[in-house]
Amino acid sequence: MRKKIVVGNWKMNNTIAESVQLAQDVLAQLGEGFSGCEVGLSPTFLALQAVGTVIEGSSVQLVAQNCHYENDGAFTGEISVRMIKATGCSYVIIGHSERRQYFGETNSTVNLKVKKALNDGLKVIMCVGETLEEREAGVTGALVSSQVREGLDGIDDISSLVIAYEPVWAIGTGKTASAAQAEEVHDLIRTVVVKLYGEAVASELRIQYGGSVKPSNAAELFAMPNIDGGLIGGASLNAADFAAIVKAASEC
Ligand code: PEP
Repeated sequence: MRKKIVVGNWKMNNTIAESVQLAQDVLAQLGEGFSGCEVGLSPTFLALQAVGTVIEGSSVQLVAQNCHYENDGAFTGEISVRMIKATGCSYVIIGHSERRQYFGETNSTVNLKVKKALNDGLKVIMCVGETLEEREAGVTGALVSSQVREGLDGIDDISSLVIAYEPVWAIGTGKTASAAQAEEVHDLIRTVVVKLYGEAVASELRIQYGGSVKPSNAAELFAMPNIDGGLIGGASLNAADFAAIVKAASEC
């Protein structure tokens, strides 16, 4: 039985003080001792340490939004896996569609980052997903399959990996993939992983859905057999909405 995982991706929102307040509000909403599913909060790099202090001692985990694939050196503006780990993060999000779209990330840079993070003991949420044009052109399956295959190229052990399927057309747009549309792609991702790693490994892999998940649609999405939680953008900026989504995941 796969334990569901719900992560709030706060993107480039909130100062350190605002992030601390939001983390406190999320904890208050979840209630003491919450353990119904795995939960992560992903503030900006600047606020990782401060949010880490707020969630210390709870089951909520700290998640970074990106990392570099080199150890250290002359990469102005970048953050290494070692630095991220030192803040207490347990996960890093890699290959978010906004990174691919605005910062030139490709399947091969995603692959370098995933390798680096996993090798250095940081768990990974690797994002994949098609644009509206790709969906309309009927290439969703081929595109997502190649994102999975190329992102995982040369990686033997995926026990510390989560895949997030995030159709780009559903991110921040208010348009959600229907539960059936999402399940179809999740099932396809698991089939690709079966081919790469075998049944046993694939059946353990958690595949999150992301794209305008809200309290009103979370339960239906999380009830699908291959949807193992959510990567939540906009709704994670509201503690009550995020907690409602987490609770929906816990009850599925
Ligand atoms: C995301 O950015 O990962 C995301 C799913 O955003 P939203 O929930 O706002 O669509």
